[in-house]
Amino acid sequence: MKFTTAAIALAIGVSGLAFGAMAETVGISMPTKSSARWIDDGNNMVKQFQEAGYDTDLQYAEDDIPNQLAQVENMITKGVNVLVIAAIDGTTLSNALANAKAADIKVIAYDRLIRDTPDVDYYATFDNFKVGVQQANTLVQGLEERFPDEKPWNVELFGGSPDDNNAYFFYDGAMSVLQPLIDAGDIVIPSGQMGMDTVGTLRWDPATAQSRMDNLLSANYTDKTLHGVLSPYDGLSIGILSSLKGVGYGSGDLAMPIVSGQDAEVQSVKSIVAGEQYATIFKDTRELAKVTVSMVDAMLKGEEPEINDTETYDNGVKVVPSYLLEPVPVDASNWEEVLIGSGYYSEDQLK
Ligand code: BGC
Repeated sequence: MKFTTAAIALAIGVSGLAFGAMAETVGISMPTKSSARWIDDGNNMVKQFQEAGYDTDLQYAEDDIPNQLAQVENMITKGVNVLVIAAIDGTTLSNALANAKAADIKVIAYDRLIRDTPDVDYYATFDNFKVGVQQANTLVQGLEERFPDEKPWNVELFGGSPDDNNAYFFYDGAMSVLQPLIDAGDIVIPSGQMGMDTVGTLRWDPATAQSRMDNLLSANYTDKTLHGVLSPYDGLSIGILSSLKGVGYGSGDLAMPIVSGQDAEVQSVKSIVAGEQYATIFKDTRELAKVTVSMVDAMLKGEEPEINDTETYDNGVKVVPSYLLEPVPVDASNWEEVLIGSGYYSEDQLK
């Protein structure tokens, strides 16, 4: 059988078409479904990647490090084109990512920096130091508002998970505001517990925060009043608030201490509206997904993704080029405008 030039051209054309139509796959590895924000992150990314013509493989690791490692390794074996990873422990993925690199798979660190590896291409996140600054600012604003005549204010500090690079940025950002007030004698830490090695909360676990708060109260507050708690995440704030309520704060004469937070999770926004948690920090996960999708798009087209920070995020091996989004403080005065006005939540969700 003879092939005419036209038939060969047609065959090439058809296979070219088939090849062109084959979607590239993005492997998305998220830490846990136990916190609503990561569910939103995953859903937003799947939606936006699919709209942009990509296939997606979304996996949650339930805060189990070997589980996440196995999921990532499996995605590499299946031959995804890109990995988008929010690491549980930022230091445990080096070997897997060396394999990804060898297979020419691009890697984006999502929200949390992946440490100790050269094999991470870009980092999409929020300005994490600023998150900490804003958490402390909301705390101080609340203290001034609720306890104007009770200086020095008694405050306790909570940090995030020590295996999450973000936790140090939140803590350092917060202390950039609080340390001068401690030095000036306006804020006192009656327990004396300071520093991430002392106040960190492994795996961001609410129950751990609750029992630490229980202990702080029974050891330091039998003869004094607590005025405020620096909490870096809404889930921890919920644990802390239940501990406080357990000893009578927020009822009778005992005013609820000011408690900060992060993520604007539904339960915590409701708590803010109810006058319990004082504030949270909203990080629009739709925007983070958008940045991530456009990074992936650019990389796969051989273009340079847009970045706005090339200095801050040294992962121990290199400074990872980053795009930082702006966090927004939310309290009882602006939750409607920021969270409902932007369409992030519907009114029904917050009822
Ligand atoms: C994220 C926060 C989140 C925390 C706990 C951090 O890495 O940046 O938004 O509150 O993890 O899930």
